[in-house]
Amino acid sequence: MIMKRLAAQEQRILSLVADDAALLHVATPRVRFVNTSNGPCYEALFNRIELDRATLALPEPLLRIVVAHEVGHATQRKTMLLDFAWTVLSVMMLLSVPCIVFAISSEDDLWRITFPGIGFAFTLFVCLKIWSVRAAKRAAAFELDADAKAAALCGPALALAALEAMAARGHVDAARLDAMRARLVSTSQ
Ligand SMILES: [Zn+2]
Repeated sequence: MIMKRLAAQEQRILSLVADDAALLHVATPRVRFVNTSNGPCYEALFNRIELDRATLALPEPLLRIVVAHEVGHATQRKTMLLDFAWTVLSVMMLLSVPCIVFAISSEDDLWRITFPGIGFAFTLFVCLKIWSVRAAKRAAAFELDADAKAAALCGPALALAALEAMAARGHVDAARLDAMRARLVSTSQ
């Protein structure tokens, strides 16, 4: 009986995902149902939405917002993948520098590259710091954009209610709540 109910619920989610994807003009993401409590997420690499059981237990209107938000991420897939590729490429290029220097240096020269080596390590540290700040900013922008798409599909009032429910579970930060409240105010004026 429980299995039947779960299967029906999963089918319902799949059709919601397909509907939202059609409205947002993106390829329909696949959906993976998981038992963890990490909250819903979107995996750009596989164009896949992951939904946990606790999210599935949300009331239908809120669940629809969560689904719309995750499908909203699917519209960012190309940008997310390019971001990822660019980061990997940059890190690899940077790491290749000392490898090349060591490869072309003779054993006797190695002591001379100690100082440039320290400079390189410092540069790498600074770059990684800048990248991590930039990545956090990009991730926050992706979240706000997916929220905006969910609000466009389901209305900002419902979207805010869903965000508040997710915030209570620790999956949503204050910036997203504030942005949605501002959106609600601007649309109701
Ligand atoms: Zn998200």
